[in-house]
Amino acid sequence: MYAGIEVGGTKLVCAVGTGPADLDATRAFPTTTPQQTLGAAVTHLAEQQRRHGTITAIGVASFGPVGVDQTRADYGHVTATPKPGWSGVDVVGWLRATFDVPVGFDTDVNGAALGEHRWGAARGLDTFAYVTVGTGIGGGGMAGGSLLHGLLHPEMGHLRVRRHPEDHYAGGCPFHGDCLEGLASGPAIARRWGRPATELGSDTEQAVALEATYLAQLAAAITYLLSAQRIVLGGGVMKLPGLLEAVRRRTGALLGGYPDAPELRSPLTTYLVPPGLGDRAGVLGAIALAEAAEHSA
Ligand code: ZN
Repeated sequence: MYAGIEVGGTKLVCAVGTGPADLDATRAFPTTTPQQTLGAAVTHLAEQQRRHGTITAIGVASFGPVGVDQTRADYGHVTATPKPGWSGVDVVGWLRATFDVPVGFDTDVNGAALGEHRWGAARGLDTFAYVTVGTGIGGGGMAGGSLLHGLLHPEMGHLRVRRHPEDHYAGGCPFHGDCLEGLASGPAIARRWGRPATELGSDTEQAVALEATYLAQLAAAITYLLSAQRIVLGGGVMKLPGLLEAVRRRTGALLGGYPDAPELRSPLTTYLVPPGLGDRAGVLGAIALAEAAEHSA
């Protein structure tokens, strides 16, 4: 039995199991202080272990930035984050103090990408991206069958985008102001309209058009930089009615027919897709990280 922990900016979700068929004991805890949040997860998993049997590996898919290079001292840590109290927290060390098992650790989006590759919308592919649009915007994925790492890890949400001429919102990224995340994350929508994305009412259509303008620029950039075979778009904001279709239309327009491939011709229904694992992509991604950690141990 594996344990999967998805550490998000607003909540931590953990569960046990080996995949979508037997995922069990899913629990969400609000992300407050690291002590409280990780402590609650450890207590919950220890309880599941008493009930259901030994946890043989743990996977953690965490909000970033995180240390994912096993040769560096900050491996397994949340690094310099604006989130109060979380900079420098050794998440993997915290878990290893209680559970003496292999721990897989990666970004939330690389975790979700691995889960989608194992069981969801990216099965059979070796080069693809998983993008989440929610509290923040992040992107991960695989190139040639390996999860995307590098100096640190991709930060696709901070791409510079061309602004919509009628968008006068200054942008909310603490580092860049009007980068993609600054203009198109859930909090950006809430600040621009003065209410959350789920309560936009008659402004929904305009918000969808604006979101599509920005998210299509990321989709086009991924197409050009990664030569992705598919892009999976998840996260709460992507549930806005009509947004996925609008991003497909806008991405098709931006690509302008170049490069030419059947997948990239309108309406891009097999190229830009929702997560096959739905809302469970994150926590199942963490389970997939646990499985990978056990196999490489
Ligand atoms: Zn930024």
